[in-house]
Amino acid sequence: MNSVVIGSGFGGIAAALRLKAKNHKVTLIEKHKDLGGRARVFRKNGFTFDGGPTVITAPHLINELFQLFNKNPQNYIQIKPLSTWYRFVFEDGSKFDYSGNEQEMKAQIKNINKDDVVGYENLLNFTKKIFDKGFIELSEVPFDNPFFMMKQIPSLLNLKSYKSVYALVSYFVKDEKLRRLLSMHPLLVGGNPFTTTSIYGLILYLEKKWGIHYSMGGTGKIINGMEKLMKEENINIIKGQEVTNIISKDNKIIGVKLDNNEEINADNVICNADPPSVYSKLTESKNLNSLFKWKMKRMEYSMGLFVYYFGTKNIYENVEHHTIKFGNKYKEHLEDIFDKKKLNNDISYYLHRPTATDRSMAPEGNDCFYVLVPVPNNQSGIDWSVEGEKLKNLVVDKMEQSLLPNLRDNIVEDFYLTPDYFEKDLNTKHGSGFSIQPKFSQSAYFRFHNKSEIYDGLYFVGAGTHPGAGVPGVLSSAKVLDKIL
Ligand SMILES: Cc1cc2nc3c(=O)[nH]c(=O)nc-3n(C[C@H](O)[C@H](O)[C@H](O)COP(=O)(O)OP(=O)(O)OC[C@H]3O[C@@H](n4cnc5c(N)ncnc54)[C@H](O)[C@@H]3O)c2cc1C
Repeated sequence: MNSVVIGSGFGGIAAALRLKAKNHKVTLIEKHKDLGGRARVFRKNGFTFDGGPTVITAPHLINELFQLFNKNPQNYIQIKPLSTWYRFVFEDGSKFDYSGNEQEMKAQIKNINKDDVVGYENLLNFTKKIFDKGFIELSEVPFDNPFFMMKQIPSLLNLKSYKSVYALVSYFVKDEKLRRLLSMHPLLVGGNPFTTTSIYGLILYLEKKWGIHYSMGGTGKIINGMEKLMKEENINIIKGQEVTNIISKDNKIIGVKLDNNEEINADNVICNADPPSVYSKLTESKNLNSLFKWKMKRMEYSMGLFVYYFGTKNIYENVEHHTIKFGNKYKEHLEDIFDKKKLNNDISYYLHRPTATDRSMAPEGNDCFYVLVPVPNNQSGIDWSVEGEKLKNLVVDKMEQSLLPNLRDNIVEDFYLTPDYFEKDLNTKHGSGFSIQPKFSQSAYFRFHNKSEIYDGLYFVGAGTHPGAGVPGVLSSAKVLDKIL
């Protein structure tokens, strides 16, 4: 079998490796000169900035890829567990250190609201049930059959999938701060906690089960390790070339065309590129039936991301590896981002400080950071060439006030990415950070199928297909592919 993979995100690389292990002849094509997609690395004057994923969960899904070829993952990558997972900071200055240490978790919950300790325990037990169904049972199986989906409905109803993650958490826990921190997980995969189906409550339990990890040298080291493995296994990697067309004959895929006009024949094309962009830009729209066009049109896209990368000439010793800072208004802020598609000054943000764990990420005596602010995707019409600089200044001001005193004077290296980067450089529809939103109406059978229903020989892995965004999600999508190809 001759298989071509378009895109080198975690999902694309995992697909290439899994198909190679099944003896396919594999070619992986990446538009950029470096691999990784959202997990690309930017290096500036001794600072190493991981572009995207920083929180590594379910590391066995990464290790498995090396084990497929009887290779020891430790010869390629070094993944280490973190003890504090997230530090949550609220507008009133109060903090919560979130971890897998249940005694410390409960002590902190008790300080906030003693009645919520039992609620928290019940929530954990409930999310285990969701995890068993949603992750263990269903994350690695294809959802291309409506009858299979219908069979799942009774158990999904039992698990209260009709509720949002925030509503589920609120059912168990009463304090607003605890509700926010226990329901924030959908934001990690591009969803609004107030509208994302509670199936995604499984992430809370997934973290508890396997912990939160860091890849020494940065997430980019995992991509490097997998690239080395692909080369050893003779996967043909073409970098710096964009696929402009997926070629088909009578709805059977026969190859791809590159931006240098070269054509590559293939029995199968596996797209790690964003499915809505693939269907609208790389294939011929006359082949899409009206039902499919309607499905694409009604899709709701995840939020956009503003990511400001910066290095400082001093060390902020007291800042944790992962900090989540909540603004005052939370629900309203999320409505502005997801529904009204407008910017708001009362921002919440995630601050990454890899140097808290790994000094190699910055020159000696310096600190390395990125701050991620959820923003509307490009359906907003925001002009980022104007708003980007304003948002940078706003978030620097906010960080100076709460977490990083005198920040402005200490920055020695910086740049930022806006939804324009996601749209133009990563070819993501509307510049969304995580493809389509993880709503019930866009999950499982209702998401873009792993096996195209339009073309014979066209497949999808990555954030826009089943099971969804996040590194464990996209690695699982390659396991689905393994079952159908
Ligand atoms: C800032 C940020 C922080 C995140 N943090 C975390 C985290 O801490 N933990 C976590 O688990 N997840 C995190 N995520 C989510 C996670 O990074 C993504 O869901 C995942 O990496 C997406 O992988 P993917 O396989 O879908 O491919 P992508 O990374 O989206 O890569 C797709 C690739 O396809 C290429 N491509 C597109 N079109 C073409 C074409 N026509 N020809 C050739 N190549 C093409 C693109 O250049 C790109 O390299 C984060 C995401 C972002 C953006």
